[in-house]
Amino acid sequence: MQPYPLGLRLTARRVLVVGGGSVATRRVPPLIEAGADVVLVAPEITPALRALADRGLLTWHQRPFQDSDVDGAWLVHAALDDPAAARAVSAVADDQRIFCVRADDREAATAWTPAVTRHGPVTVAVLGGGDPRRSMAVRDRIASGLAGGQLDAAETRAERAGTVALVGAGPGDPELITVKGRRLLGAATVVVVDRLAPGLLLDELGPDVELVDASKIPYGPQRTQDEINRILVDRASTGHFVVRLKGGDPYVFGRGGEELIACATAGIPVTVVSGVTSAIAAPAGAGIPVTHRGVAHEFVVVSGHLPPGHPDSRVDWAAIGALRGTVCVLMGLKNLEAIVAALLANGRPADTPAAVVADGATDRQHVVRSELAGLAEAAAGLKPPALVVIGEVVGVLAAIADR
Ligand code: SAH
Repeated sequence: MQPYPLGLRLTARRVLVVGGGSVATRRVPPLIEAGADVVLVAPEITPALRALADRGLLTWHQRPFQDSDVDGAWLVHAALDDPAAARAVSAVADDQRIFCVRADDREAATAWTPAVTRHGPVTVAVLGGGDPRRSMAVRDRIASGLAGGQLDAAETRAERAGTVALVGAGPGDPELITVKGRRLLGAATVVVVDRLAPGLLLDELGPDVELVDASKIPYGPQRTQDEINRILVDRASTGHFVVRLKGGDPYVFGRGGEELIACATAGIPVTVVSGVTSAIAAPAGAGIPVTHRGVAHEFVVVSGHLPPGHPDSRVDWAAIGALRGTVCVLMGLKNLEAIVAALLANGRPADTPAAVVADGATDRQHVVRSELAGLAEAAAGLKPPALVVIGEVVGVLAAIADR
C-alpha cells in the first residue's frame, strides 16, 4: 500500500486533537502554524500545551473524549497511548469519513504524519513506508542539504535576484551562523565579506560566486564604507543576489544600518539576518555568562573604539563606571588603559573580576583574567579581535570550569 501525499490547507478549519501528552505537544504547534482551529480534548495537558491554550492559540476542553467532539472537524489526531481509547476516537472519525492520525497504531490509522523539515518557503515531508526512523533519517539528510543551501540554492537565488541580505556570521565558529544565514549564503551570487567573517564559511561557495573582500578595499574608513555601499547597490541592480556577510550580528557595531539605508535609498530590497554577537558569545566561550541570577541583572555592550573623553565619543563612561552589572567592551583593546582608568575613576572597584577574550569562540581563543586594576597590563600582547568583559560574572563559573 502506497500512501497518497497531500498538503492540507487548514486555515480556520477545525482540527480535533484528543490527548494532551507528549505526542500532542509535538503535533499541535505545526497545526497552529498552519492556521488551524485546534480543539484539544484531554483531562490533563502538558505545560507547553497549557501555555498555548492560555495564549488563546487553541481551545482546550478539560474532560475525556465524547463522540460529538468529532463534529465539524476536517482532521482528527488521536494522540493517545491507550489503544481502546484511540480506537473509540478513530471509529467516530471513520463514521464521519474524517481522516484520523493515530499515535498508538499506524496500521489502524487512516492518515500518517510525515517527518518534516521546513526551510523558508519549502516544506519537505517524508513518509518512510511505516518506519519512522527511516523517514527521519532521510529527512535529516535533506534538512542538512537545505541548511547548507546546496538543495534549493537555485530557487532562492532566482527569488532573491536584485536584493541584498545583511547576514550575521556569528563570532567565529562557522557552526554559529543561523540556519537562515547559511541558506542565503548558499544561494548568493555575490558575497561581500569583512575581516571577522569566519573563513570556513567561504570554503563552501561555488566557483561562480564573486567574492568581494571588504577588508582589502583601500582608502580611509569612510571611503571604504562608501565603496562597500556602492558595490552592494551596483551588484544588486544588475540582478545579483548579494549577501553581505558580517562578523557577529550586523547591527552590533557592524554598520548594518548604514548599509541598509544605502540600499533602501537606491530602491534595493534588504533582508537582515541576525547573528550571534561576540558581545555574548566570546564571554560564553571563556565560560563567562553575561548574566547570572543574584550576581548580574544587567549587561551593557559598549564600543571602546574611541577613548573616554574623546570629543566624538557617544559613551557615558561615568554612568558605566557606576554600574554593578556586566560591561562588555568591543574594539577596546587599544584603549584599554584609558577605559580601565575611566571605570575606576567613576566608582567601579579595583578588584572587580575582569577578562579579555581574544579570538573568542574559535580554535585560537585566548583568555586572560585579572582584577580590573591590572587588566591592561595583563592583556598586553593580545591581538584583536578581543572582547573585554568586566563584572562579578567573570568569576562565577570559574571554580566549575577549572575542575
Ligand atoms: N558585529 C560584531 C562586532 C563588530 S566590532 C559582533 O556582533 O560581534 C569588532 C569587535 O568585535 C572586535 O574589535 C572585538 O571586540 C569583537 N569581536 C568580534 N569577534 C570576536 C571574537 N571572535 N572574539 C572576541 N571579540 C570579538
